[in-house]
Amino acid sequence: MAGQSGSFFNDVQMAPPIEVFALIDRFKKDEHPKKVNLSVGAYRTEEGKPWVLPVVKVAEVAMVSDPTLNHEYLPVAGLEDFRDASCKLLLGADSPAIVENRTQGVQCLGGTGAIRLAAEFLKRVLKFDTVFVSKPTWGNHKGVFKAAGFSSIKEYRYWNDANKNLDLEGMLQDLKNAPEKSAVILHACAHNPTGVDPTREQWKLIADVLEAKKIFVLIDCAYQGFASGNIDNDAFAPRYFAERGFEFFTAQSFSKNFGLYNERTGNLCVVNRSPEMKAQVKSQLEIIVRTMWSNPPNHGARIVASVLNNNSQFNDWKENVKTMANRILNNRKLLYDKLRAKGTPGTWDHIINQIGMFSFTGLGPRQVTHLIDNYHIYLMKEGGRINMCAITSKNVDYVVEAIHDAITTVPKT
Ligand code: PLP
Repeated sequence: MAGQSGSFFNDVQMAPPIEVFALIDRFKKDEHPKKVNLSVGAYRTEEGKPWVLPVVKVAEVAMVSDPTLNHEYLPVAGLEDFRDASCKLLLGADSPAIVENRTQGVQCLGGTGAIRLAAEFLKRVLKFDTVFVSKPTWGNHKGVFKAAGFSSIKEYRYWNDANKNLDLEGMLQDLKNAPEKSAVILHACAHNPTGVDPTREQWKLIADVLEAKKIFVLIDCAYQGFASGNIDNDAFAPRYFAERGFEFFTAQSFSKNFGLYNERTGNLCVVNRSPEMKAQVKSQLEIIVRTMWSNPPNHGARIVASVLNNNSQFNDWKENVKTMANRILNNRKLLYDKLRAKGTPGTWDHIINQIGMFSFTGLGPRQVTHLIDNYHIYLMKEGGRINMCAITSKNVDYVVEAIHDAITTVPKT
């Protein structure tokens, strides 16, 4: 071959696989007739299929025939109707932070983009270098903050493995020991991966510590409506922080609650202490966006804006969200009942007590490997995390049989 000799890429090492995508890949190649993918992070119907929300289809059809739409760039900060409606959805229209005009949004590439924008702002503008994430947390939190240049990524205790619930004491203790200029990521609801959320009383205790320690709060809200089926209940934490007068960021994702996974639809909702600060903050966020994705995509944001700003579509959407949440709740009960009926050792109360799409089953790494290798049931190693909506009435007996076998014949570690 003519041209330069050698290659710039000779010494490029293979990067470690991204667990969830590696599992999906293995699942696709697996030809076993009973294979089940419990690892995927997306909603599935009873037929095991992705679901386009009916209200999303309605909004899309209207978009196709709208002669006023075109493919011009959106503003750097994104579609205004979308940003404003997203912040209102999160905080409630009567929140002091909205009424007093202290809130604004910046459209981002999904929840991940909003977290990255928050991290870049904290690093570049506020000069933060320490962030606390829950132990465990969504796999990407640490990576995003590392990519933004944070050199100190610490964990606060969260999951109590013995009791399969929240280690509140550990969490409060770790946050009390945080150094100055620390930020913390909190999951608004449906904590990923544990499915364990603080109660309202516990949120108050957490807020007390964060306030006393002046820790900057970034709420990750990827599942509003998905947890309880009620968008107001699921927004308790950000609404409470706003009422208490916190300045904070919330990274909102519309991937799950609108089923807009591939449209990269997210919003960074910024609550400030006074309206006067908004312009400076926005200008800095825009500079960061300009160097990352320059302008956000239109399609998903336009759908969300249409639905949130139209009473009838908004009501339909709330019903669609309930449909998804209820299916997950029913599946929790189904799995729980079947495990109990089979007499599988262990208490399985956590399956029905956990919240949201995921459940930390408590299966150990060797038991997970057993399920993958011998039953072709794919799930995440950490905590044996499963996606509850991947369970169907057709596969539940097979899944229960496999879990029973793993628990009774294979040691946890
Ligand atoms: N935060 C959490 C806790 C998540 O579970 C996810 C997605 O799985 C995200 C953020 C990212 O969402 P998005 O796909 O909108 O980037």
